[in-house]
Amino acid sequence: MKILLHICCAPCATHSALLLKEKGYDVTGFFYNPNIFPPDELIKREKEARRFFSDINLKFVSDISDVNLWYKMTDKLKDRKEGGSRCNVCFAMRLDRCAREAKSLDIGYFTTTLTIAPMKDSKRIFRIGDMISGKYGLIFLKEDFKKKDGFRKSCELSREHNLYRQNYCGCEYSYKERFSV
Ligand code: SF4
Repeated sequence: MKILLHICCAPCATHSALLLKEKGYDVTGFFYNPNIFPPDELIKREKEARRFFSDINLKFVSDISDVNLWYKMTDKLKDRKEGGSRCNVCFAMRLDRCAREAKSLDIGYFTTTLTIAPMKDSKRIFRIGDMISGKYGLIFLKEDFKKKDGFRKSCELSREHNLYRQNYCGCEYSYKERFSV
């Protein structure tokens, strides 16, 4: 079965991609994160994800556009804390784009590496994924990658592959919250 895996960053994609492969899926990675700030960071995370997919010999596609659109869509929510309602818009935008990409590549399943992060509520991501899957007639695979020690495994694999790991979620607002700037 073909699946398009939305990748938020290379470290989160390590265990997630390998687990899906182990389960027998024909995995293609899709990097799309217009939330990432600053622009150099977006390029850096995309490059690392691309390098990892090349290392493990899986297909990879990416789209680094839509940064202005992301700001527009989250503008009214810029004062919300990380984990608040701004994140719902951010998740939905990325998953919607992933579903559109899956549709165009004739891939019937999609899912996301976002569920591997210990701070992210997987059930919330599943609800958004389900809503979007209905819109496109696709199946959203509700895989909670943090389960069975998934996050720890992703840290080990990231070290093995010498991947860059950021220390903030991604957007300008999360950056400012994290570094108090
Ligand atoms: S904190 Fe993370 S998930 Fe929330 S809006 Fe910012 S980048 Fe998106």
